[in-house]
Amino acid sequence: MPEKLDIVIVGSGPGGLAAGLLAERSAKSYVILEKGNNIMQGIIETYPKGKKVFPTIPKNYTDPFAVEEVKPPDEKVSVEQYIDQINSVAAKKNLKIKLNEQFKEISGAYPDYIIKTERESYFTKNIILAFGSNIPNELGVYGEAKTVARNIENGEDYIGINVLVIGGGNAAADVVSSLSKIKREANDTTSVYWAHIKEKFEINTDTARDLGEEMLLGGQIKILQRAVPKIGEVDADGVERLYIHQTTTSNVGNDLYMYQGMSFPMKNVIACIGTHGPAAIYDSLNLQQITCTGTICKIAKEGERLLMLSKHLETSSRGIYAIGGAISPSYMQIDEEGVIKETKHSNLIYTAVMDARTVIEKIVND
Ligand SMILES: Cc1cc2nc3c(=O)[nH]c(=O)nc-3n(C[C@H](O)[C@H](O)[C@H](O)COP(=O)(O)OP(=O)(O)OC[C@H]3O[C@@H](n4cnc5c(N)ncnc54)[C@H](O)[C@@H]3O)c2cc1C
Repeated sequence: MPEKLDIVIVGSGPGGLAAGLLAERSAKSYVILEKGNNIMQGIIETYPKGKKVFPTIPKNYTDPFAVEEVKPPDEKVSVEQYIDQINSVAAKKNLKIKLNEQFKEISGAYPDYIIKTERESYFTKNIILAFGSNIPNELGVYGEAKTVARNIENGEDYIGINVLVIGGGNAAADVVSSLSKIKREANDTTSVYWAHIKEKFEINTDTARDLGEEMLLGGQIKILQRAVPKIGEVDADGVERLYIHQTTTSNVGNDLYMYQGMSFPMKNVIACIGTHGPAAIYDSLNLQQITCTGTICKIAKEGERLLMLSKHLETSSRGIYAIGGAISPSYMQIDEEGVIKETKHSNLIYTAVMDARTVIEKIVND
């Protein structure tokens, strides 16, 4: 059994990093698990290039940022400068962060939880879920395609490879045109295949303009409409592959359909198929959620399920907490008398950082 930690923090956004810095200050043992290649992967994937980062404090809040090192500067720097700031804080404080570690499941009970990633298991007393609000959808077939919410790093890795991008929206279109540009500029003759389950792609004018320009400049983009990811399989050489098929003739007669298929090594498949909120993850962890019905909720919509948390942001499982984007824009707070009420929670860097303080104080006093 590995050494038991006081805290495992899932996610290295502002909330997770603030929790790590506060754990370090309180001499609690901890590790931060980040599924991406970088600290702040969530922000890297969702902010447009050059976006100014605001140190916004929501109305009616007076406390200053609980962890000054994570606060965006008042002079509103670009997201790139903000990320540099955070990277240098993490290096200076020697934060214990494991990159490329996607948390998968939790077993055990307080105070002996085991948290599993694809590669390792961690033994811990407490867990802080700080994985943000945007969880990329998965393909739902056997095997691991790279699922991308917005953009792709290291496009150069795809030079010399026929790559398949799946998805019909702006995120997929951006990935297609940037990969095509990288290949074209490297005089690479392999293609970017772009598959969408429907006939029509749904992209905005700016994205369409970039894509059109890329095609006219000679980009090797091959469009596959009505293409359905069918099955993931392992071939005779042990390579995981994805088979997609396109309906070419809807009905040949006598209830027969004609399909045309293609098969790609799964490692060359990029799925940009949208994101979803964390409700499904909370379900898989058996954390209690409450459904908004009637007039219970003012912020969440009818039928949405909100995570139930104490005022210390502890879930229905002792020692498991949720903070930041993962509980925005609202959650259900249960007070000491058992009264449950929808509580507004702005998705801001400030709120994520203040949540980290609330939780670490609770853990220290436990
Ligand atoms: C375009 C845009 C602009 C914004 N501008 C501002 C602004 O100017 N000022 C402001 O205050 N707020 C802004 N926000 C909101 C702010 O970015 C969020 O409130 C903040 O990032 C939330 O922090 P977090 O730590 O909770 O989550 P995130 O920053 O989303 O971090 C979560 C981290 O968890 C990782 N993760 C996810 N799943 C797993 C898993 N299973 N295992 C391991 N790691 C995982 C992700 O890769 C990510 O790095 C903006 C948001 C957007 C989208």
